[in-house]
Amino acid sequence: MSKIVDARVIVTCPGRNFVTLRIETEDGVHGVGDATLNGRELAVASYLSDHVVPLLIGRDAHRIEDIWQYLYRGAYWRRGPVTMTASAAVDMALWDIKGKVAGLPVYQLLGGAAREGCMVYGHANGTTIEETIEAALDYQQQGYRAIRLQSGVPGLPSTYGVSKDRYFYEPADADLPTENLWSTEKYLRSVPPLFEAGREALGWDVHLLHDVHHRLTPIEAGRLGKDLEPYRLFWLEDATPAENQEAFRLIRQHTTTPLAVGEIFSSVHDCRELIQNQLIDYIRATVVHAGGITHLRRIAALADLYQVRTGCHGATDLSPVSMAAALHFGLSIPNFGVQEYMRHTAETDAVFPHHYSLTDGLMHPGHAPGLGVDIDEKLAAGYEYSRAYLPVNRLEDGTLYNW
Ligand SMILES: [Mg+2]
Repeated sequence: MSKIVDARVIVTCPGRNFVTLRIETEDGVHGVGDATLNGRELAVASYLSDHVVPLLIGRDAHRIEDIWQYLYRGAYWRRGPVTMTASAAVDMALWDIKGKVAGLPVYQLLGGAAREGCMVYGHANGTTIEETIEAALDYQQQGYRAIRLQSGVPGLPSTYGVSKDRYFYEPADADLPTENLWSTEKYLRSVPPLFEAGREALGWDVHLLHDVHHRLTPIEAGRLGKDLEPYRLFWLEDATPAENQEAFRLIRQHTTTPLAVGEIFSSVHDCRELIQNQLIDYIRATVVHAGGITHLRRIAALADLYQVRTGCHGATDLSPVSMAAALHFGLSIPNFGVQEYMRHTAETDAVFPHHYSLTDGLMHPGHAPGLGVDIDEKLAAGYEYSRAYLPVNRLEDGTLYNW
């Protein structure tokens, strides 16, 4: 028994907003969990401090499964991004504590390393194909084995995935949402030439990925997947929204380009049909939005039965705490595919000192007990929360569309 005596929520904005839960036990051991839900951060902060913290005080920090079930079943209102992100933060912090008490890195508690490191993919982007290829060559030289290519679309003033800065991409950048323009026709014409140029410049030994960001209908996605087959993509991501899991059957009937989806999923029930019907190849659910290590392991175990591998979301809205948890998870499961990795700014890295590292395109969580990451509260207190929304998207005739 190791009683929880304190739990509190820390909101900070070292370059972007992060919500962190810090749990402490009677033995003075503390653990941290990420609770960041991009653009809706304070909803989770309130859910935790108003509704979850009172339930944690006095509970045994070592009973991770029991506490997870208590929060899931006990809330009555199951699933959903706010609830599952809050549960994820508790779960991560408890695994962190257990590791520290055991004197072992969390991946050792999850069964030990199943590989040398977690392959990550970098984000090459530019307003033109030439700029994108130049950025991709830079990633290749740095040793990345997998690179996502996103390029501006001729005729559209801005596009998802194309940043103003070479190395940092932060779409949640405005006090009120910016409005972008979208044209499916222009986009569909622009992608095959990008990958033709990509293969020509980068060769065939590097994995290439692309994110559609939920912007096509299933039949349009089928056509894009077919058009991209000659370039052998590692995956085509979020080809169509997945509220209707059945939609992926139509895409699957038309293309052998591997499909990835799931960064907005919060539960195994959001992807159960996709996995069991083998409609996808990679599941992108993340440790922070899908209930923590405890629940993500369940998703991965189901996926493994159907040869579906993981490819967890890992944009900058995941704090270094989530990044660390994702690496312990990815290192230990049999069906790891790839981990998304986007650099955090120097300010973020300073607020969250961590032990994970990147060598030759592979990331490792390090050997420190627990998650190997912490929050510098003094430094964090210097960065006040600053409201920041993701953009919205409209078609050229003004219709609100998927961002
Ligand atoms: Mg994505």
